[in-house]
Amino acid sequence: MTSLNEGLIPHTAFRKHIAIVGRRNVGKSSLINAIAGQDIALVSDVPGTTTDPVYKTLEVKPLGPVTLIDTPGLDDEGLLGQKRVERAKRALYKADAAILVVDDKPGPFEDFIVNLLRSLNIPFVIAVNKSDIAEKKQQLAMDYKTFGVPVVEVAATKKTNMTELVQVLSSLMPEEEERPLVAHLLGPNKTAVLVVPVDKAAPKGRLIMPQVEAIRDIIDHGGVAVVTRPPELEETLKKLSYKVDIVVTDSQVVMDVDKVVPPEIPLTTFSILEAANKSDLTMFLEGIEALEKLQNDDCVAVVEACSHVPTCDDIGRVKIPRWIEEKLHLKLQYKFFAGKEFPEAENLEGCKLIIHCGGCVLTRNMFMRRMQLAKRLDLPVVNYGMLISYLHGSLEKAIKPLLSGGYPPATGGKTAILPGSSGVSTPFK
Ligand code: SF4
Repeated sequence: MTSLNEGLIPHTAFRKHIAIVGRRNVGKSSLINAIAGQDIALVSDVPGTTTDPVYKTLEVKPLGPVTLIDTPGLDDEGLLGQKRVERAKRALYKADAAILVVDDKPGPFEDFIVNLLRSLNIPFVIAVNKSDIAEKKQQLAMDYKTFGVPVVEVAATKKTNMTELVQVLSSLMPEEEERPLVAHLLGPNKTAVLVVPVDKAAPKGRLIMPQVEAIRDIIDHGGVAVVTRPPELEETLKKLSYKVDIVVTDSQVVMDVDKVVPPEIPLTTFSILEAANKSDLTMFLEGIEALEKLQNDDCVAVVEACSHVPTCDDIGRVKIPRWIEEKLHLKLQYKFFAGKEFPEAENLEGCKLIIHCGGCVLTRNMFMRRMQLAKRLDLPVVNYGMLISYLHGSLEKAIKPLLSGGYPPATGGKTAILPGSSGVSTPFK
């Protein structure tokens, strides 16, 4: 969600995330050091040295900016070991690609990891490590070729074959799908007015990521972006002598902006554009429907994808619960989660809805895997922005440009009762 932190967070959403997985002591950390060309991961002969996933950001040619995720061994044992395995598995939900490191014949663990990677649609290469040790050479690469994925023999401690490994990995990376944020709703020579609140929550001297991305997307596609603050919006619209084709606003001021924007000008929010761009608008609409069925004392999970320091008027912890109570007269129980990892299933037990932040630090892959997890748990999800628009009676208007502008019409006439509509079902079309 728009917050002080959003503009300050490193651009993890633009980095490829590569998970290094395998059993304990196969040389995963050594491999990370060899790829990086420097000692950035702790290496030890003691099995299980990496107890939590460790994230290392670096530049790797030809991949560009990447985050390497050093994961604990997936064969860890005992109660603590199982916890580490769980964390390693959850770290995989962030991966765009993976390297499975092995140093012995394939066994049930390798089968398990391969199946896990396949079930998550994560492309991967198998690195047969310690290929400098004579007895390890025999047959291993051949054995692993039966998995039907590229196999590269490496010796991490001697940095042997790193270039080949990275090149193979690079060839597996899915092509970047071009997903315009707002340009597909406009086209060349069209004008968008972007409404950007500059309040206490705004980072000093800069715009936040969704705002920057929207401006870049518009000008990249030959459009015109006019940026203004909410108090100047009315005057800005009057002054413009040419047609405004869309107004995009921060969700938190959507209700004020809606009052100013003439009905003939399409209006949407940065959050809705982001939701359509990197997650699943249809699932979020289902989340709104689930919200409508909630009753007092039902439990909902508020999930944020980073652990920023909450402010006294924090959007997830304070404003959203307050608005839900004011607008829907619902007193709910809240569980709050913040951080890189999606909450574990056991912690979401009893929750009837997930209210998720905008996920500015997440790649589309990461967000979609979070949605998959929620689906598996049969938990509906809505994001902050759509929820705020809904609570302020502006969702129907704000989502319209997306539904009529080429977003997959998966809602199929889905209905939702909007506050202030006197309980009348309003089809989103
Ligand atoms: S990850 Fe979520 S909570 Fe953190 S700054 Fe981005 S939108 Fe806000």
